[in-house]
Parts: sequence; structure tokens; C-alpha cells
Amino acid sequence: MDVHDKKTRSYNMSQIKSKNTKPEKMVRKYLFAHGFRYRKNDKRLPGTPDIVLPKYKTVIFVNGCFWHGHNQCRYFVIPKSNTEFWVDKINKNIERDTVNTDKLISLGWNVITIWECELKKDKREATLLALLNKLESFITFS
Ligand SMILES: [Zn+2]
Repeated sequence: MDVHDKKTRSYNMSQIKSKNTKPEKMVRKYLFAHGFRYRKNDKRLPGTPDIVLPKYKTVIFVNGCFWHGHNQCRYFVIPKSNTEFWVDKINKNIERDTVNTDKLISLGWNVITIWECELKKDKREATLLALLNKLESFITFS
């Protein structure tokens, strides 16, 4: 096993917790500070969105790059052991995400996905700013 493999594994393991992960908290805190009010982990909606903004008819998913198979992302690396298991698992997650997104859209929701890598220090500010702009456009034009 090489060093990269070990690193990947511990990164992957850190992703295997679903509620109140740090990136989610970051987004919630930012939105709250900017006057947005939201519901958390709304089980009544497909996929239990992490953040629901009824006023903006918008749901936000904050996705871990490994767990949700972020395409072309350097944080999405399939482990070299049990490869088949992981490929299958992640593919199922991707499929489920797609189905849930489609359901939400057909219910009239705007669906925003924020990837964990977009919240790393160097990109965080731009990502959150873009999110605010997007939300504002939703309330203006809907
Ligand atoms: Zn990513």
C-alpha cells in the first residue's frame, strides 16, 4: 500500500458520516449570517435535502466528493482495494441523487448542489458568493 492510498482511505472514511458534516455547517452559517432562514434535513422532500429555503423554493445539497462521486474531481478516487464494491456503491449513490433531483424539479423546486471541494479554503468565498447571487435571482424572477 502506498502513501497516497492510505491518504485516500482516511479521506474516504472521514466522508462516511451523513449528518451535520462540516461543509454543511459552513453553508448554513453563511446563509444564516446573510439573513436566510431555512429548514435542515427535511425528510418530507426527496433525498432529505441538507438545506431547504421555502421562500426561494430552493433546496441545497452539500455533497461529499467521494460519497457522491464528483465527476472529474481530485477528491473522488476509487480505492484500489474492493474497487468493484466502491464503484457499485458510488454509482448507486449517483443514481439516487439523479432520481431525487428529478423528483424535486418536477415538484417545482430549484435544486442547488454544492460540492465539498468547492468549499475548500481557496474556493469557499467565490462559491458562497455565487450561491447568494443564485438565490437572489430565484426570488427576483420566480
Ligand atoms: Zn469535488
